[in-house]
Amino acid sequence: MVGGGIAGLLAARVLTETCDDVVVLERDRLSGEPEYRAGVPQGRHTHGLLVRGGELLEELFPGLRDELVREGAVLADAGDMQILNPLGWLAKTHLGMPLLSLSRPLLETRIRRRITAEVRDGVHVTGLSVRDGVVDGVLTRDGRVAADLVVDASGRSSKLPAWLAEAGVTAPEPEVVDSGTGYATRIYRAPADFPVVYAESLSAPDLPRGVAAMRVEGDRIMVTAQGANGDHPPRDLDGYQGFLDSLRVPISRLLADAEPLTPVYLFARTASRRNAFEEVADWPGGLVALGDAVCAFNPVYGQGITVAAMEALLLRRHNDFSARGCRAFQREVARTAKGPWAMSSNADRSWSEPRRGGLLGWYLKKWQAGIVHDPDLFRRFVRVVHMVASPASLFTPVVFRRLAKYSRQGRRPGRRPAGPTPR
Ligand SMILES: Cc1cc2nc3c(=O)[nH]c(=O)nc-3n(C[C@H](O)[C@H](O)[C@H](O)COP(=O)(O)OP(=O)(O)OC[C@H]3O[C@@H](n4cnc5c(N)ncnc54)[C@H](O)[C@@H]3O)c2cc1C
Repeated sequence: MVGGGIAGLLAARVLTETCDDVVVLERDRLSGEPEYRAGVPQGRHTHGLLVRGGELLEELFPGLRDELVREGAVLADAGDMQILNPLGWLAKTHLGMPLLSLSRPLLETRIRRRITAEVRDGVHVTGLSVRDGVVDGVLTRDGRVAADLVVDASGRSSKLPAWLAEAGVTAPEPEVVDSGTGYATRIYRAPADFPVVYAESLSAPDLPRGVAAMRVEGDRIMVTAQGANGDHPPRDLDGYQGFLDSLRVPISRLLADAEPLTPVYLFARTASRRNAFEEVADWPGGLVALGDAVCAFNPVYGQGITVAAMEALLLRRHNDFSARGCRAFQREVARTAKGPWAMSSNADRSWSEPRRGGLLGWYLKKWQAGIVHDPDLFRRFVRVVHMVASPASLFTPVVFRRLAKYSRQGRRPGRRPAGPTPR
């Protein structure tokens, strides 16, 4: 396993069911405690775990949810989030869908403790070892590690296309959709009445600014300011505060007396990037890839961990790692990422092509009104966003009829809404 991030750990968990020796090679030095580390710079920013992702993690690690709650993670209901969209506050309603709110380092360390694979830290993989067209291990800064199967799970910064090229295999140029989004995150001691999830969503083309604030373990609030289309929140404290003040949600007021616990951290490499590895005709045997190394999503949609878990579970059904078998696996990975990719990249293309929306764009605008006014539409929408229902469920006659009511409702964007008052 190249990379001990979440995709690598989950794939290792699945492979230990059938393989004798599963070894995770991670370039960072790891401690047993939740810590920020260089190889996962996104760990300093909010990580929403979708309901489906939470279910899959529980399937892979029974009892994990309770363990995380004992460690301070906050358990809420997915319908309980307080979110402002361009037309108003979403129609909050109890959905009976458990939502876990926690930091990325806590999630990762607890998963790492649970796997039985060997984790070798401080090992930097530099390339593939290939013999007779078959991958038989990896090259590292210190030598070579032999393997019957190499899994690339090295994330957004994966060098797999270059490593394949060194072996004479050409992968297509990745498809990139860039909304120009920047993140800036600061952590605060949580005020007693702060909601579990409090957010203002970005919306092309008029509302490039938003925020996602989540209650996490240790009685803290992670506040991630988000700016699309190059309108990035700044690192300096006055600039960061000014960005929060400029939002429609009154988050500045909610945090007025909250004690800041960290400086502001930035992250701006948020472009969605998809490698069509399934199209590589001479893909070698002994090699598969998953997680962000194949398809990295704009993080504002919170899809990455859930898709990584779905892809790790594909490995369970797979035992042919010949060139043909590995290609078949990459086709399944591509199919798994296809829906989430369509959802996030279609929305993001509106930043660079505001007129492109067409029929789908018109339909999504109707949804923005529907989920503000109609708890049933809100429920259907949350189930799709959290990947527990298919996007097809948003296109049924019942839904069309309900949505028709909302054609002209809702406020114009840009004004600060009146409520609800956060609990
Ligand atoms: C700012 C930001 C916010 C995000 N927010 C969310 C969210 O809200 N919800 C969500 O589900 N997802 C979110 N994601 C995505 C999520 O972090 C990933 O999709 C998920 O962790 C799976 O990634 P991965 O394991 O493939 O890669 P990563 O988590 O990036 O892990 C890759 C690992 O590989 C190691 N590595 C890299 N190169 C080498 C090498 N050559 N040799 C050895 N080791 C190597 C790295 O050190 C790292 O540990 C966010 C991402 C970003 C950037």
